[in-house]
Amino acid sequence: MRRKLVVGNWKMHGTQALVSALLEEVIAGTANLSDEVEIAVCPSFLHLELAKELLAGSKIKLGAQDLNAEPDGALTGEVSASMLADFGINFVIVGHSERREVFKETDQLVAAKFAAAQANGLTPLLCIGESLEQRQAQTTEQTVISQLDAVIDRVGIQAFSEAVIAYEPIWAIGTGETASPKQAQEVHWLLRDHLSDQDAAIAGAMRIIYGGSVKADNAKDLFKQADIDGGLIGGASLKAEQFLAICKSADF
Ligand code: PEP
Repeated sequence: MRRKLVVGNWKMHGTQALVSALLEEVIAGTANLSDEVEIAVCPSFLHLELAKELLAGSKIKLGAQDLNAEPDGALTGEVSASMLADFGINFVIVGHSERREVFKETDQLVAAKFAAAQANGLTPLLCIGESLEQRQAQTTEQTVISQLDAVIDRVGIQAFSEAVIAYEPIWAIGTGETASPKQAQEVHWLLRDHLSDQDAAIAGAMRIIYGGSVKADNAKDLFKQADIDGGLIGGASLKAEQFLAICKSADF
């Protein structure tokens, strides 16, 4: 049985005051959730320290939004996997569509980040997803499979026993337009089936979460799908009431 996972991606949002107020409510509101659901938040690098202090003793895990693939070096402004591990980070997002699109990250760079995260004991949360044009051109399947294969080619299928995949259709991120439960389930099944061709046990245990305008009112229907194991939540994770309702929707 796969444990549901709900991850808040706070992106480049927040102040120390917001982080404190938000986490206070989220910690209190999730204290009684069952162990069937795991929760993590990914603040900006600057807010990790404060979040770590506030989360001490709670069930909520701490994630980072990105990392540099290099072990160390003269790379001003960057943060390595070993720095994140040393700090006590559990998850790290790799290949978010905003990084792929705005910062021109290639499949190969995403794969290198995934490998660096794992080599340092972090759980990579690999984001993949198609654009609106790709969906309209009916190339969703080949897009997501080639994004996934770029990582499998680099690290091997065994590495996926310690990873999470987030299917995030780009047309649904921050747009208010959500993939229907059926549309999302189709892609999640496809991804699991593809993994299964290489290792059925890893595919069966793999958590594949959905991201793209998940809100309190659509979370339950998505999370009830057979191959949807939780959500990566952007905008709604900045509002305690919304985020808590989404976390509760995963607890069944
Ligand atoms: C995201 O950025 O990963 C995301 C899913 O954002 P939103 O929930 O705002 O669509």
